[in-house]
Amino acid sequence: MKTTARVVIIGGGVVGCSVLYHLTKKGWSDVMLLERDQLTSGSTWHAAGGFHTLNGDPNVAMLQSYTVSLYEELERISGQSCGLHKSPGIMLADTPERMEFLKMTVARGRYLGMETEIISVKEALNYFPFIEEKYFLGALLDPNEGHLDPSGTTYAYAKAARIGGATIEVQTKVESLEQKPDGTWRVITNKGVVECEHVVNAGGLWAREVGRMVGIELPVLAMEHMYLVTDDIPEVEAFNKSAGKEIGHVIDFGAESYLRQEGKGMVLGVYEQAGKPWSTKTTPWSFGQELLQPDLDRIAPSLEIAFKHFPTLENAGIKRVINGPFTFAPDGNPLVGPVQGRTNFWSACGVMAGFSQGGGVGLALSNWMVDGDPGFDIWGMDVARYGDWATRTYTNAKVRENYSRRFRIRFPNEELPAGRPLQTTSLYDKFIEQGAVMGDSWGMETPLWFAPSVAEAKDVVSFHRSNDFPHIKAECKAVREAVGVTEVANFAKYEITGPGAEAWLQSQMTNTLPKTGRLQLCPMLNHNGKIIGDFTIAKAAEERFMMWGSSQAQVYHMRWFEQTLPTDGSVTITPFGMKLIGLSIAGPKSRELLQRLTDDDVSGEAFKFMDYREMEVATVRAHVNRVTYTGDLGYEIWVAPEYQRRLYESIMEAGADLGIKNFGMRALLCMRLEKNFGTWFREFRPIYGPFEAGLDRFVKLDKHDYIGKAAAIKEKADGPKKTRIFMVVDALDCDVMGDEPIWVDGKVVGWVTSGGYGHYVEQSLAQGYIPTEYFKPEMKLEIEILGERRPARLQMDPPFDPEAKRMRM
Ligand SMILES: Cc1cc2nc3c(=O)[nH]c(=O)nc-3n(C[C@H](O)[C@H](O)[C@H](O)COP(=O)(O)OP(=O)(O)OC[C@H]3O[C@@H](n4cnc5c(N)ncnc54)[C@H](O)[C@@H]3O)c2cc1C
Repeated sequence: MKTTARVVIIGGGVVGCSVLYHLTKKGWSDVMLLERDQLTSGSTWHAAGGFHTLNGDPNVAMLQSYTVSLYEELERISGQSCGLHKSPGIMLADTPERMEFLKMTVARGRYLGMETEIISVKEALNYFPFIEEKYFLGALLDPNEGHLDPSGTTYAYAKAARIGGATIEVQTKVESLEQKPDGTWRVITNKGVVECEHVVNAGGLWAREVGRMVGIELPVLAMEHMYLVTDDIPEVEAFNKSAGKEIGHVIDFGAESYLRQEGKGMVLGVYEQAGKPWSTKTTPWSFGQELLQPDLDRIAPSLEIAFKHFPTLENAGIKRVINGPFTFAPDGNPLVGPVQGRTNFWSACGVMAGFSQGGGVGLALSNWMVDGDPGFDIWGMDVARYGDWATRTYTNAKVRENYSRRFRIRFPNEELPAGRPLQTTSLYDKFIEQGAVMGDSWGMETPLWFAPSVAEAKDVVSFHRSNDFPHIKAECKAVREAVGVTEVANFAKYEITGPGAEAWLQSQMTNTLPKTGRLQLCPMLNHNGKIIGDFTIAKAAEERFMMWGSSQAQVYHMRWFEQTLPTDGSVTITPFGMKLIGLSIAGPKSRELLQRLTDDDVSGEAFKFMDYREMEVATVRAHVNRVTYTGDLGYEIWVAPEYQRRLYESIMEAGADLGIKNFGMRALLCMRLEKNFGTWFREFRPIYGPFEAGLDRFVKLDKHDYIGKAAAIKEKADGPKKTRIFMVVDALDCDVMGDEPIWVDGKVVGWVTSGGYGHYVEQSLAQGYIPTEYFKPEMKLEIEILGERRPARLQMDPPFDPEAKRMRM
């Protein structure tokens, strides 16, 4: 066995083999895969082998589409058959909501170039003849689905990788990992030690064990999964003969089942409600190519519906039942990328659909390792989207929930209950008592809106405007006309100190840093000049800065900062997490309210827009920012958590006669929309340049140096390829939710990033991107909402306070 390699990949399932192949394709041939048994010995060998391109996250859908398009190339290069059966797939809707969901899915696929369409139940019979028509309303047709041979495909990746120079060692178990002081790794196996630069965890069912070798607990859990293979069904053969084709793939949401042809019979798989986790704490190393005991009782409720929906299947004999485990992350998407805090340790885990996603995972990870960037927007799969709050038991609750909802719709206003409440502030009970409907923001409970009573504090889930509508309106009105208070705990907050703090921070940010006592909005770019951060920075003192960003991106950003911090100890960055939390007060009466709570002078002259000050507020030592995301006069007040309750009670008491009202996250997002403010991970993502995103004011090209500056200069010189636009939509009772296609002059050319109803300006609003070449003031805009093209018009100025006088008053 070789004793050195540039990269060691642990795990020879479909994912590890795909990463291996893609690294060779990128030109890294000194790469080695270690497999404790034979290739495919984890979940891979007993998979049903189905593949499809559809995914709720459009960026993940694109990588799935790449995976599906890869198989022919793989067969060609390796000479190994993947056993490909490409056939159309249909998704059947048995309720009006599922029909709406399918229409939305077709619309979202349009700008990705997906050729899906809505067809009638009658037309669906052309692909799947067993449908009992009366149960269904329609279907989605996806021409790009199919199934393959899982083992053949894994060996095809492996062979193609070997042709590219890679080495594969089977029967080689990695037993431990040691990092040397220079950041390189010693991989200790049952056959000796391999020294390497990078380690990739593609351990599949053993991903947790491999993670534990470097002291991390990855949020993955395996679930048992069953599918049946029927005996031959005469009607299957009859269909093949008369139609001249195989029966297509089917998803029946009502029966939580998927079906496809296998020989002259069918495969029927179920994502049942009573799903069962497998090996909740540790995966035994002794587990090999074996199956789990089937438990038909567990899937009986789904089978009952499937047999009602497709009566022909009821009389078919069952040839075999496969029950095997495979892993999921809490949200069902993979965990890919460099692991924060572990130099050159990469994750390729939690891939629940290896044959739809494995190629995309291999591509993104190999780009990342070789070029330093995944090359796509892979936030939906980034291992950094989870922090250490995603514990093993939290993961267990969420994975079971996700499994049971695999074929369920998630409505845009739907909050999922499992594993909650997890992180709460001292105000949690107080908010609940006042009718708060809480949401889960990456493990953190956040008030979304306030109902008039506890009894009414529940979302009626829907694609349409719902029961929160009048209450959010009232919250916005209170802010715009008097004063409101909201919790702003769910921001990331950092302190940056040390003699090198200013120089380092400046090298990260496109904007010049603020002077002492001032705030500055600072985008951050990667080396390709794409937006990877959007921060508010305060200079608190010489050598001390405070910084606020997106809470869900804290691990993502810390990973980046760790790579760029000077190694001489001259800069320290401390993420506060929940050790600094806050409240924001906003509205024309917020200054009067703040003045009642402090003996500092907070008049407009003494405490200006974008000022920062450390002062006592309601007897509490606080950092106060004169800025709010509402775009109104307002303040963010940050305190240690033990003082937050005191601060809140004082604000409510002092604001009573000013008409103070609680407002939640939904009102906050609505008000930022009325100001056309962008938001991280919607308008600002690593696929957009700063000029495309309209951040020109915050990007200095003629002052300091920073990462991505050369690319930013080029973007400006060449002209941005995309343009962020703001629109007023002629919506009916349903506003945009995000990812809808934008039609310009009758053609889909762009997509919505976010939007909703602007309650104070009483307009339905949307933000999105279109290619710059289509941008004309007189262009005819339409947005497809739930299958209907609604007229929209370009809005150049924010509809609320276009001259930004309120923030500065
Ligand atoms: C019943 C069933 C049906 C399925 N149907 C489908 C389907 O239709 N379509 C689809 O896309 N997906 C399907 N899947 C899921 C699919 O199987 C997985 O997505 C895929 O196999 C994951 O591959 P992997 O490489 O990540 O993990 P694994 O296949 O688990 O591979 C991990 C490998 O790592 C090795 N390993 C672990 N630790 C070490 C170590 N320390 N040293 C050396 N080697 C190590 C293991 O031996 C194993 O071979 C199904 C799964 C099941 C169980």
